[in-house]
Amino acid sequence: MDTSPLATALAQLASAVEILGFDSGVHDMLATPRRELRVAVPLRRDDGSIEVLHGYRVQHNIARGPGKGGLRYSPDVDLDEVRALAMWMTWKCAVVDVPYGGAKGGVTIDPHAHSVAELERTTRRFTSEIMPIIGPERDIMAPDLGTSEQTMAWVMDTYSTSVGYTVPAVVTGKPLAVGGSWGRSTATSRGVVDVAAAALADAGASLSEVSAAVQGFGNVGSHAAVFLHAAGARVTAVSDQYGGVAAPDGLDIPRLMEHVAATGSVVGFEGATAITNADVLAADVDLLVPAAIEGVLDAQSAAQVKARWVVEGANGPTTTEGDRVLAERGIQVVPDILANAGGVVVSYFEWVQANQTYWWTEDEIAERLAYRMRTAYDAVASLARAEGLTLREAALAIGVRRVAEAHKIRGLYP
Ligand code: NAD
Repeated sequence: MDTSPLATALAQLASAVEILGFDSGVHDMLATPRRELRVAVPLRRDDGSIEVLHGYRVQHNIARGPGKGGLRYSPDVDLDEVRALAMWMTWKCAVVDVPYGGAKGGVTIDPHAHSVAELERTTRRFTSEIMPIIGPERDIMAPDLGTSEQTMAWVMDTYSTSVGYTVPAVVTGKPLAVGGSWGRSTATSRGVVDVAAAALADAGASLSEVSAAVQGFGNVGSHAAVFLHAAGARVTAVSDQYGGVAAPDGLDIPRLMEHVAATGSVVGFEGATAITNADVLAADVDLLVPAAIEGVLDAQSAAQVKARWVVEGANGPTTTEGDRVLAERGIQVVPDILANAGGVVVSYFEWVQANQTYWWTEDEIAERLAYRMRTAYDAVASLARAEGLTLREAALAIGVRRVAEAHKIRGLYP
């Protein structure tokens, strides 16, 4: 069985189309990316040699508004992966009802194997190559795996220099100093923890009484661990691409953050036991937050999960088979397009603020984010209850239906 992200995304769409009873024409429209751009990104390395990287930007759907989605730097990224991620963005923006379509970008670069100057040149060349299809009303990028707020500042500067004036709204997730929003860097994780709390509450539980494991300790995973720890959860296992650490009584997350800031990895954290990434997924905890890469919960690893709740911080961490195994085992999965939507919600707030040149306070952001996440969670959970669906099926049904509705109301041109 094909366990690639694109196969997973297409299978999810097919199941939503079946639930919604759409015909094959509508299914095809929703399955087919609206616009794809593939570019060469020649990079002059610091030693003077030239390396040609590949860059992609896919706008899966723009029926509800401009394309919106992250930019990924990873040596393995390819067009199909970007297509899947762009499709998930479309449903995600619709589930939390922000007026965007879905898009995603990628460049085949290993950020850990390149200097800051090389990353800057790569970002500027890639931005320049995709200039014709991006812009505040066309397609707005944000950080994703391997990119950061610094990357967004370079994109914004390159775009602005090219058009001749400053355009903060062309990206989100940029630094505060150039029009970023309070709370954006931790928004995805806040949303993850908000919906985890809501899912637990539905079962009469609360974060203060559970143990948790987090896979991936980057932007999403590390802050999720911080918020879980702050809410009283015992975070007993975490990992990154180099390995994992565990402590049965709970890891001291603030100290672990300092260790990661100093060493670049969770590995070697004093007082903790070394474990593998597979151990983290199979950890004996109540709540599991995969927050690294796609496809880690397949049929085999899903069979090892001991958690009662899986809250997907990453995009596409569960394959179709993995999803089936988790559902059969009665494990509650809060799906990516709902669980990690906090990032795009605050990205939307950042874009609104940039368009108005008027800035909101951190409290205003946190309050509006919590309201959006709670509203989206309640809509998904109540549809799931009413129709006997999983939370993933319900979230997809809501997202896909809203996008199809936009197409229907707009009509097909010509
Ligand atoms: P990041 O680059 O900041 O961190 C990624 C983390 O995953 C790092 O700790 C890295 O070491 C780890 N990792 C990478 N490969 C791994 C592997 N093979 N096994 C185990 N760990 C591995 O990226 P991020 O922004 O935190 O994104 C993580 C996930 O969350 C991605 O799926 C991304 O698409 C999704 N996401 C991010 C945001 C956002 O706002 N940044 C929003 C929504 C979803």
